[in-house]
Amino acid sequence: MLLSVIVPCYNEEENVPAFYEEMLKNEAFLEEEGLDLEIIYVDDGSKDKTVAEVKKLHAKDPRVHLVSFSRNFGKEAGIYAGFQKAKGDYVVMMDADLQDPPSLLPEMFSYIKQGYDSVATRRVTRKGEPPIRSFFARLFYKIMNKISKTEMMDGARDYRLMTRQVVDAILSMCEYNRFTKGIFGWVGYETKWLEYENVERAHGKTKFNFWKLFLYSIDGITAFSTVPLALSSFMGVLFCLAAFIAIVGLIVKNIFFHDPVAGWPSLVCIILLVSGVQLFCVGILGQYLSKTYLEVKKRPIYLVKEEL
Ligand code: UDP
Ligand code: MG
Repeated sequence: MLLSVIVPCYNEEENVPAFYEEMLKNEAFLEEEGLDLEIIYVDDGSKDKTVAEVKKLHAKDPRVHLVSFSRNFGKEAGIYAGFQKAKGDYVVMMDADLQDPPSLLPEMFSYIKQGYDSVATRRVTRKGEPPIRSFFARLFYKIMNKISKTEMMDGARDYRLMTRQVVDAILSMCEYNRFTKGIFGWVGYETKWLEYENVERAHGKTKFNFWKLFLYSIDGITAFSTVPLALSSFMGVLFCLAAFIAIVGLIVKNIFFHDPVAGWPSLVCIILLVSGVQLFCVGILGQYLSKTYLEVKKRPIYLVKEEL
């Protein structure tokens, strides 16, 4: 039996060897379970020495593989490439920065042996994260779980161990706009959730600033919910209703109080409000259209420059 470990890396030169060291601490467990190991580092167009570090490891240990992209395609593309290249009967994906502790692997694998199809992890604390970021992250999960049928767990990491069957299910979803957290929920299968305290990054800085996370959340919403579209129709109906009531009110006022011209300021307010709402709704429509546009083009999700 083979265990594939997928590690997406973007400028992680210090973490590549550190991760390898940490992973090898599982060697006794792997032997006990009769598992062979392959570690696939997916270099997402790093500008530092990440590729050189992986090559060094590959020269030393043939179980280490490298897939290097032609440029930065984003973590989701890295994960997808890893899944495509993995040959394992079991596949696990982990961040390079050791925020997904490899020491959890034996416990995770024990659940797979019990018959679970996938073992997922979530962090119960957000220690070391800016409070504003935690607040918006929680808000995102709250909204998302209201507007999407796909279940998404608050604090879920991408750290997951799964069987070949689940991996093949994920690979069968070849969409361009990949929101992996949603894809995991969408494919289903029996999932065991493990909880752990947040671990801070070993070396380097996070690659996700607030703006990137905001755009990522919009990707998630458009990929796994059509409620915003329904919302814009609903707002349209609401505004028509309000307009109808206002018209009746004005007619009554005109007939009984003979006051046809007053109300210019209120008119301006109404025009501004209504046009604002219209633009907002067109914007929502545009979001979905732009995602559809990118899907229809069927561009490759990533391009490989080098593979070892
Ligand atoms: N990553 C990547 N491509 C990117 C950004 C990040 O492959 O464009 C990798 C990164 O190297 C790390 C993982 O995705 O292994 C998670 O990134 P990070 O630790 O910066 O995110 P955070 O843990 O802060 O959410
Ligand atoms: Mg991290």
